[in-house]
Amino acid sequence: MPNLVVLSAVPPPAASVNSNVEKDQHALDHLDEFNHPRQRRDLILAALQQDGDEGAVEFWQCPSSFSTDDPDESSSLLHTVYSGVHSEGLISFFETAWQQWLALGESGRDPIGCHPSSDHDDAIPSLVPACTPLLRTKAKQRPSRHVIGQVGYYCTDTCTPIFAALREELRADAQLVAMLLEQWPRNKDASSSSSFNRNSCTYYLLPHHPGHHAAYDCFGGYCYLNHVAALSQHLSSFGTIAILDVDYHCGNGTAAIFHDHADVLVVSIHCDPDFDYPFHAGFAEDNDDTTLHIPLPPGTGWESGYRAALLQAIERIVAFQPTAALLISLGLDTYQDDPCAIRRAGFMLLGDDYVQMGRLLAEQLPPNLPTIFVQEGGYRMDAIGKAAADVVRTYARHRSSPF
Ligand SMILES: [Zn+2]
Repeated sequence: MPNLVVLSAVPPPAASVNSNVEKDQHALDHLDEFNHPRQRRDLILAALQQDGDEGAVEFWQCPSSFSTDDPDESSSLLHTVYSGVHSEGLISFFETAWQQWLALGESGRDPIGCHPSSDHDDAIPSLVPACTPLLRTKAKQRPSRHVIGQVGYYCTDTCTPIFAALREELRADAQLVAMLLEQWPRNKDASSSSSFNRNSCTYYLLPHHPGHHAAYDCFGGYCYLNHVAALSQHLSSFGTIAILDVDYHCGNGTAAIFHDHADVLVVSIHCDPDFDYPFHAGFAEDNDDTTLHIPLPPGTGWESGYRAALLQAIERIVAFQPTAALLISLGLDTYQDDPCAIRRAGFMLLGDDYVQMGRLLAEQLPPNLPTIFVQEGGYRMDAIGKAAADVVRTYARHRSSPF
């Protein structure tokens, strides 16, 4: 019986994956110097497949029944999955932005809206913000009808472009969320004929794009739609939810979405925003009854602060007493020398620290609750597969066979 179910749009690679980003394989991964999300997914899938306990890991892809050529059906899936946590305007923007950009024609696609490093094979440059709304005013604002205005309205930075394949990738990610949610009621009864014991099985969602920086009405930080928030919002119908974000960067989108929700606790351990992205959120002074930010200084290692922070986070989650599920936003950019950290920042986790993380979480988090890991960031392609597999496999193994 599996203790870990992994959901992704593609199966594990048949051959071992080179940690050098191969341009032919994932041309879109070259839109950005650091962000290689498709390669990251492949490396993690490959690592999960290696050296596993026999039958312990099961890989799920989207069933073909989810695939549809009907644009209306695909569009409604995005709305069905994400409308509880994102504005209709933002979701519709992802459905229409590329077509609007395309419709401008070459002469109408003003260079100020083009990604500065659009040198990939795609003939049409990806779209980035060139103009953002006035902030901190009380004036009523709405997005422009011009797509360059719209991307400036919704996007918070210039590293999260709109490109040709984005809509289909987001739809595939929505299918993964929908597939997991569809399984949930059946798994609710642990004594049912289902092959899974809901309470001891661990799920791991590997979407095309991370999500924890996407908030209700905006996106950025390589994130477009917030999967961990969507799962939490849907599963909150079963009871209370605890979200733990262990990405190096604050899960500011997730925290913002659930700021006023008494039934969802958000705990995030991250680099102090006085030193690194997202800079404007994640301060300890923002904490309240259902938000716990634990900012740590640059240079934090497992024994020099991270382990203690994890215990503090777990203590808060245990006190909250979640009843429906645990969700873990898993970023591996806490790894030493991760290239995405701002200069002179960065954490120092290494090697077996990730085994320790998985074990500590499994031992200390409230028992008898299903857990969903959702992949967020991580940019050391030479280390990410093993680090991710060490956390999730260790966790799943210990949760299914308590100590
Ligand atoms: Zn991150």
